[in-house]
Amino acid sequence: MTDRSSILITGGVGFVGSHFARMAHEAGRRVVILDNYSGGGAAQLSSDIPIVIGDIGDVALVRRVCAEHAVGAVAHFAGKIQVGESVRDPQLYFDVNLVRTLRLLAAVRDAGVHACLFSSTAAVYGEPTRVPIPETERRQPVNPYGATKLAIEYALDAWCHAYGLRWAALRYFNAAGAHPDGTVRESHEPETHLIPLVLDAGMRLREPLTIYGTDYDTPDGTCIRDYIHVQDLATAHLLALALIENGQTLGPVNLGTGHGYSVREVIDAARVVLGRDVPHAMGPRRPGDPPRLVADAARAADLLGWTPRRSGLEMTVEDALRSRRDGLTQTRRLA
Ligand code: UDP
Repeated sequence: MTDRSSILITGGVGFVGSHFARMAHEAGRRVVILDNYSGGGAAQLSSDIPIVIGDIGDVALVRRVCAEHAVGAVAHFAGKIQVGESVRDPQLYFDVNLVRTLRLLAAVRDAGVHACLFSSTAAVYGEPTRVPIPETERRQPVNPYGATKLAIEYALDAWCHAYGLRWAALRYFNAAGAHPDGTVRESHEPETHLIPLVLDAGMRLREPLTIYGTDYDTPDGTCIRDYIHVQDLATAHLLALALIENGQTLGPVNLGTGHGYSVREVIDAARVVLGRDVPHAMGPRRPGDPPRLVADAARAADLLGWTPRRSGLEMTVEDALRSRRDGLTQTRRLA
């Protein structure tokens, strides 16, 4: 292979990464995953997609994978994603998300790879002064998770100026939903994300949901988030990658719907989809949670020609539910 058209997908290839891998593969792209399996999302993928099990901080391994698979671009997911955990264990977050990413960037640079798609987050904004939030909003993360993602964005920008790296940092708002066929679901261990927890509580598979804070300055007192369907996220990645591969640098791009829903509204949507109530209780605020995060997604629309197609709250919750009901099918067993 000499054409260097493969995409290296790295770094905690979980929920979004595995959707992107599948969509890219189905679009006829060659992909190779490098993951240490702590996230486990890649285990839900077709066995046609090669997976190298290893550490993204292992420079020699990354160089070898790039050479063997003719890698021309890296899509890096930098995968520790739990706000609460990052507050309790910042060392883990700075190590996995930042230190190892810097090693990955060094390795791919050595390997002659100059295109990088990076999975960033709305958490870089902290408590924004403007909602919907444009990319030009000040960045002031209020938790270590957001701080690590922002630090990587700074590194990418510097790499661009100094070494000619072309990049995009896709700032996801709240990734949600699942593959419409019920596979490739959201699955974290332990699960901390709202929609899976609401659905599991509704199906009596776990304890009642605790609402983290009912005294925020929002209409019903609970936090507001912009839930974006994972299929729409994966599509945006493919569009962004095509532009980067064509020589552009996009910098930061928000990926959200522009509509926010409160925790209570998510519970209501789940009640409708499930056809039964969702047991829940009021609890204290969770440290590091900003009250309201909603995207201004105009830049994604302009640059990528992207509009979310599957992100209505009910459809998102419905897809998530189907995947939780059918979720144990098609799980790939690893040798
Ligand atoms: N949330 C909640 N109870 C839970 C989990 C989450 O009330 O058991 C709230 C959380 O405070 C936040 C929203 O649901 O306002 C979305 O949280 P999630 O962890 O899904 O995503 P985040 O916004 O932290 O990335």
